[in-house]
Amino acid sequence: MGGTFDPIHYGHLVAAESARFEFQLEKVIFVPAGCPPHKREAQISTPQHRLAMTSLAIASNPYFEISDLEIKRPGPSYTYDTVRELKARLAPVDIFFITGADAVMQILSWYRVRDLLAECCFIAVTRPGYDMRGLKEMLRRPAAWVAERVIPHEVPALAISSSDIRRRVRMGRPIKYLLPESVEDYIRSRGLYK
Ligand code: NAP
Repeated sequence: MGGTFDPIHYGHLVAAESARFEFQLEKVIFVPAGCPPHKREAQISTPQHRLAMTSLAIASNPYFEISDLEIKRPGPSYTYDTVRELKARLAPVDIFFITGADAVMQILSWYRVRDLLAECCFIAVTRPGYDMRGLKEMLRRPAAWVAERVIPHEVPALAISSSDIRRRVRMGRPIKYLLPESVEDYIRSRGLYK
């Protein structure tokens, strides 16, 4: 599961668990993005904070693991490189790359997208009420097989978003019950998102 996780919240955790069950995945490896190709570093918390929060959040689930491979790899965190690296490390294995449908909407502009979709299927997790036709239509435009490699998966708990949590902290509003208590404590003790 790839994401910036700034911060990780219950929407991500429910999405991961739901995809694990529905697609019968052996485990879910959370890969916090080191240097997301489409974002400026100044906009996001340090990789160390995002890695620590993700680690705390997944601690109680034996099917969840975390990898710092993107954080350790210098340069932009291209998903193609990540999937290739994971496959080499874990072979023989089939990989499903789980991430947000909003991020997948931009996939046609990603680095080596055709090679990427040949390497793995995508599980695009959507928020409630998400219009999947837009995603499917956008993916069908270059070729039908592109759309076939992306599986939409609706997750009701994804009504929670990292940007809303950051805004709430800034405004002094509560974030309790939107993310694990350990992550909330981490945010408060480090003064993140002020
Ligand atoms: P983003 O732009 O921060 O997020 C876009 C939307 O997707 C947000 O609504 C976000 O909600 C949601 N989202 C992101 N990750 C999610 C997840 N794991 N589960 C559920 N919803 C998720 O996206 P991003 O986090 O930077 O990128 C997502 C993944 O795509 C990362 O692994 C990134 O490295 C990869 N990516 C690769 C390329 C490339 O290879 N060229 C380009 C772009 C992105 P929240 O804010 O609540 O998470």
